[in-house]
Amino acid sequence: MKLINSFATELPWACEPVAPQPLANARLLHLNRPLLGELGLGEVSDEQWLACCGQARPLPGMQPVAQVYAGHQFGGYSPRLGDGRALLLAEQQAPDGQRWDLHLKGAGKTPFSRFGDGRAVLRSSIREYLASEALHALGIPTTRALVLVGSDEPVYRETVETGATVLRTAPSHLRFGQFEYFAWSGQGEKIPLLIDYLLRHHFPELESGAELFAEVVRRTARLIAKWQAVGFTHGVMNTDNMSILGLTLDYGPYGFIDGYEADFVCNHTDSGGRYALSQQPAVGYWNLQKLAQALADHVDGEALAAALGQYEHQLMLHYSELMRARLGLETWEDEDPALFRQMFQQLAADKIDYHLFLRRLALVEASGPWPASLLTLLPDATPWQGWLDAYRARLAREGSEDATRKARMDAVNPKYVLRNALAQGVIEAAERGDMAPFERLYAALQHPYDEQPEFEELATPHPDWYLGEALSCSS
Ligand code: AMP
Ligand code: MG
Repeated sequence: MKLINSFATELPWACEPVAPQPLANARLLHLNRPLLGELGLGEVSDEQWLACCGQARPLPGMQPVAQVYAGHQFGGYSPRLGDGRALLLAEQQAPDGQRWDLHLKGAGKTPFSRFGDGRAVLRSSIREYLASEALHALGIPTTRALVLVGSDEPVYRETVETGATVLRTAPSHLRFGQFEYFAWSGQGEKIPLLIDYLLRHHFPELESGAELFAEVVRRTARLIAKWQAVGFTHGVMNTDNMSILGLTLDYGPYGFIDGYEADFVCNHTDSGGRYALSQQPAVGYWNLQKLAQALADHVDGEALAAALGQYEHQLMLHYSELMRARLGLETWEDEDPALFRQMFQQLAADKIDYHLFLRRLALVEASGPWPASLLTLLPDATPWQGWLDAYRARLAREGSEDATRKARMDAVNPKYVLRNALAQGVIEAAERGDMAPFERLYAALQHPYDEQPEFEELATPHPDWYLGEALSCSS
């Protein structure tokens, strides 16, 4: 273990020292041992993790702080947010030299809690834990989960629930919102210091704020392209939840689509659909504009505009690469956009299961009958006939070979997806004290692209999957 506190010591004006508060009857519910090992934290005992994450006894060398930031929430500017219920305990320097924030969510009140209780409930902690590891396994940049602690601490949301913590990690939890806070609170002189900190610790290959912004644009574009391709909605894409490192950050009422729906909204408080699946690319751009405005006194305006100008192209290019791979296509034809458009229209018309449709499309062969498992997903195969014929003809034109295409497609079309209904079942069991369903789902999601016959029931369409209600923001 090699703990440092570079954020707390180098940027003391960007955070406040805060001691965590204990949870009643805290208990360890899960440890991500492989990741703890990778980070060089393998020798920390279970008792120490429980003490650190549930009993308000940080490890020796930790200097817990809450970070200050602001943010545009649902379009309106909130001038002072900050870590209202999370603490940066320390950074761990891994054996390969990479620094990892140890960030404890649900640790109690901070100077930034406003009207909140500083707590996170078991429900939302399980959702964050599962989602961060599921997205990572899918190849999507994200904060990661290290430790899950449950308790008997009552926490009041729509009903009384119990408090929990997640120890999460990422090279940095810096958000667009830190830049907005310092730009708009009369402390613009801090912006160059933040840029300098990021360049030194996280982007050593870059030399200037302009280069840094261009890299944030590129990473954000690629991240959102990945969300779109996999059918993931973040739910609360406020600028305080946008990572400077281009990671998926702050899991709340997120959701994977089940049946295909371009305008899927996972957060029921988002009545206008601001953060609908189809809106995410545009929201990413809007958020990057807010970051550019916060940087404008310190970074050349033309460079900011040029970087922003690359966003749409970068996102679309990456998205089309991902989607072509999902359909098993290796070449590019002028008619491909029409093929994709028709597929999405058909999927939407019958709300076909997005994930299983693409997974089972890999079973299409150059000739012979259409795969039965694919047809069972279609309430009426007749309107699909034209599309399937066109797809098969398209494969034939590029000389696609069935077995190798199936192998390529299986490696990019997940069979195991963290559907809300699956998460809900796991949460209800955990609330009764039974973590076995959590362990099963967690294990299945580690290998989303593999056939795992022992977890088949987690990948079989079930009517409940489509009854999933939108979730509330409360967490
Ligand atoms: P979110 O959109 O969930 O990331 O949260 C927005 C802001 O509200 C952040 O500054 C959080 O730290 C804060 N917040 C959310 N829930 C709580 C809570 N229960 N207690 C204190 N602050 C909270
Ligand atoms: Mg947040």
